[in-house]
Amino acid sequence: MPLRRSKQSLSFIVTVTLVILLAFCIKTVSMTEQLSLQTKKISSAPETTVLPQTKYGHLPYSEADPTQLTNVQGKRAEIQAASNFSAMAQAAHQKGIELSVISAFRTISDQQYLFDKKISRSGSAKAAAQLVAPPGYSEHHTGFAFDIGDRQNAETDLREAFEQTNAFRWLSTNAKKFGFELSFPRHNRQGVSYEPWHWRYVNSSLAQKVFLAAERFFSN
Ligand SMILES: [Zn+2]
Repeated sequence: MPLRRSKQSLSFIVTVTLVILLAFCIKTVSMTEQLSLQTKKISSAPETTVLPQTKYGHLPYSEADPTQLTNVQGKRAEIQAASNFSAMAQAAHQKGIELSVISAFRTISDQQYLFDKKISRSGSAKAAAQLVAPPGYSEHHTGFAFDIGDRQNAETDLREAFEQTNAFRWLSTNAKKFGFELSFPRHNRQGVSYEPWHWRYVNSSLAQKVFLAAERFFSN
């Protein structure tokens, strides 16, 4: 009898242990699943910046605050961008190169005028947008964009031939030291036509905020 009782209690202990072990295993598996679900949630968290609605490849831009604009070569541009452009033009001048500002800040209504004129020449908004950004979608609205010319080769102003000038060659090497970069290089990811004359200032916290989507989604 004592032997049987001892066998019974042993089998009871084994059963209880097995049940506890099983319960522990189930709990561990469920915790692991939860953890992996949490990891999945983190890894599939949405980007903090979503791609804004583009128009024919052009990103939307707001008009600069007029109080943040100043005069540079008779055109208006954002204060810090203008000051850096002037420093850059001075450095180029030391090398015998004269940079001109063909265009800088433009209002949305300025752009509407240019865009409508381009539509009447090219026949459609889509064709016009290859050459001129639609109103509300131009980097020029921000005050940070400059169309730069070579004063000694003004016939190349706003033409692809600008890339053959000393001004363009000098800018290609030196513009980044002054915070400028080419917005639309050849075969740019935005699909906008190549504009060797169009440079944007990107070296301030405001400029970086303005061009966040351009840099994040279309960095060249
Ligand atoms: Zn431009």
